[in-house]
Amino acid sequence: MSKIILSGDRPTGRLHVGHYVGSLKRRVELQNSGIYDKIFIMIADAQALTDNAEQPEKVRQNIIEVALDYLSCGLDPEKSTLLIQSQIPELCELSFYYMNLVTVSRLQRNPTVKSEIQMRNFEASIPVGFFTYPISQAADITAFQATTVPVGEDQLPMIEQTKEIVRKFNSVYGDTLVEPDALLPDNKACLRLPGIDGKSKMSKSLNNCIYLSDTEEEVRRKVMSMFTDPNHLQVSDPGQVEGNPVFIYLDAFCKDEFFAEYLPEYTNLEELKAHYTRGGLGDVKVKKFLNNVLQEELSGVRSKRKEWEKDIPAVYEILHKGSLKAREAAVKTLDSVKNSMKINYFDDHALITGQSEKYAQENV
Ligand code: ATP
Ligand code: MG
Repeated sequence: MSKIILSGDRPTGRLHVGHYVGSLKRRVELQNSGIYDKIFIMIADAQALTDNAEQPEKVRQNIIEVALDYLSCGLDPEKSTLLIQSQIPELCELSFYYMNLVTVSRLQRNPTVKSEIQMRNFEASIPVGFFTYPISQAADITAFQATTVPVGEDQLPMIEQTKEIVRKFNSVYGDTLVEPDALLPDNKACLRLPGIDGKSKMSKSLNNCIYLSDTEEEVRRKVMSMFTDPNHLQVSDPGQVEGNPVFIYLDAFCKDEFFAEYLPEYTNLEELKAHYTRGGLGDVKVKKFLNNVLQEELSGVRSKRKEWEKDIPAVYEILHKGSLKAREAAVKTLDSVKNSMKINYFDDHALITGQSEKYAQENV
């Protein structure tokens, strides 16, 4: 069986370092590993519209931002197909048929949707499209026959939902769809990177992000203003590293070699954590170190972005070509779905001849 990746992001803002460690960096590594037959990376504009129906311009403007972030992180259009979800109408058709296989109560139990509904204060006024987005996500994944979906932890319930739809579809209509697996980051800190405000998830919607496209000065300012252990008031106080975003970011980004360069009194993160825990290490020193670590990781991304920003038409061309190519794959899947569901009337000669014979006999 082919090894195929599908992954993507909502164009609701520029991408942040949570996306980077949770999914984007992994996609680039997988792309360059050469072990995947096909890689589809989707800008999920139709999904973004499910909770931004009245802000079409926001979604429209952020398509290029996400594409620039992709390219500057190393996604290579020669190796990965970059596409825009709304340009593949087959995805809507698949969603429509999958809706018959999922109950309202099953959607209501989805923990990510539950917390997102709460976060957006939808209460009873949830748009139907938003409520059903896990089904549309199943359509995205299965349309490309994806076997592997590199995502952050918050997406696990979506992959579970997709697996259920695939099993149900295959058991009712015969083996047609491929069951995907989520691929989570190996590093625990990257599963769900917290926001700079200490909230459990860095998220575009919560305005607590360090963006990949932030300038050096913006990154420095954000790092220096980060939430840390609220009980660590004096340098001499013992501090807590668990749940402390500054240390979680270091867990996610720090490599031992950064110590030699920026903080030679320590050889590794464990030593730094031990000092913070026993007291005598100030937040400012740790934050300055984190800033250096992040700048190391982000400066290459930033300079690549500057290059791509000089040729915006080329970026749109990449998305256009990618969407056309992706559509070919989705058309094939939709054809086999319709065959399995027996809604392929005009291609089904047996149906037409069988019925002609039936009526010929009845009318003798
Ligand atoms: P929105 O607030 O619009 O939902 P978002 O910041 O949650 O935006 P998405 O586009 O929904 O971003 O997520 C894209 C991918 O990035 C998903 O795989 C998701 O798991 C991952 N991701 C998003 N935020 C984080 C985070 N803080 N830590 C790790 N992974 C993340
Ligand atoms: Mg999200």
